[in-house]
Amino acid sequence: MASNKKQKRKILIVMMDGFDPAYLQASDMPHTKQMIANGFYKTVKGVMPSVTNVNNTGICCGGPPSVHGITANSYFDLQTKKEEYMDKAAMVLAPTIFERGAKLGMKSALMTAKKKTQSLLRTGAEIRLAAEAPKDAEGGGIDWVARLGPPPDIYSPEINHWLFRATQIVLNETNTDLAYFHTTDFPMHMEPPWGEKSLFHLSEWDKLLGETLDAHPDLEVYMSADHGMNFKSRCYDLNKVVPNKGGEIFFAMSAERDPYVKHHRTFGGTAFVWLNTPGDFERVADICRRLDGVEAVYDRYTAAARFLLHADRIGDMLVTGDINTVFGPLEGKDGVEEMPKEFRTHGGSDEAIAPLIIYNREVDPRLWRELAYNFDLTKPIGF
Ligand SMILES: [Zn+2]
Repeated sequence: MASNKKQKRKILIVMMDGFDPAYLQASDMPHTKQMIANGFYKTVKGVMPSVTNVNNTGICCGGPPSVHGITANSYFDLQTKKEEYMDKAAMVLAPTIFERGAKLGMKSALMTAKKKTQSLLRTGAEIRLAAEAPKDAEGGGIDWVARLGPPPDIYSPEINHWLFRATQIVLNETNTDLAYFHTTDFPMHMEPPWGEKSLFHLSEWDKLLGETLDAHPDLEVYMSADHGMNFKSRCYDLNKVVPNKGGEIFFAMSAERDPYVKHHRTFGGTAFVWLNTPGDFERVADICRRLDGVEAVYDRYTAAARFLLHADRIGDMLVTGDINTVFGPLEGKDGVEEMPKEFRTHGGSDEAIAPLIIYNREVDPRLWRELAYNFDLTKPIGF
């Protein structure tokens, strides 16, 4: 007997870590390109600092850091004078898409490569899996390792394929209405878009997408990225460079700092600087602006306004690098180091870019201008 019951929506949000539009262009991804041809596509802005936690939380909460509060991968605790990871759910000030869906009775799954995302975006998801640590998975009652074998190393492209198979299990076998699928950008850090391993990574990933769409032809897919990726040739340690040039600061921190050191040695294109006294601003800003490769220097409130940041959760000063330049802790006393030629990372304004793809969901063309940032990805979902 034919049922006239309205079909339940099934939603897949893909947060493809480090998926610079250049990777989309260079890779053999027929199913992804089919979604573009038959759906909605736009290249959009990412948020500064262009690091993962900032943009991942933005996509998951549907807003900028001024709303959700995650302004970097780390924060500097002024009391203990220690850098701490910004990866706890309690720091997120806005509801996740999982919490918003739960109000409508929808069940969600958070499927991520990285442990830090399981702790940051956990709220409201019934099933939670970080491929890096399947023994800490929560909900769903699935023995992931028994089903899929042990996950490949977190520093491998194959871990994203393993995670996609886990996401297929969630879509095929559980009553999950919405799955949030977050990969690792390790393959993008390792190779440019034309690299052999990168091509392998994305074409295999795309095959799994094809399988998934065959099994669920009506699956709504919302896909974007947290940031792009570029070669970088130079790194500054502002904790050393500024004093070397006669200035004084309390502390400088790379907004990129996270536990995944093999990716980028914690170097990134944005630094937060804390001053000893507000009166030091002009002197320190002048020193930073004269450094080759420094793109711009902002005071706290200008930076917050310009980049939609939460003013209480950044430094007194925000320094950005040009396309070649990053910031982070260095060994030598000079405070500047040339990077090896294969070094790729993100964090600056040149990586604040992402593709935005929506498939199987009609997008009102009048929304074109409103879909300006990666955090606008979930707007057309409608809750
Ligand atoms: Zn990332």
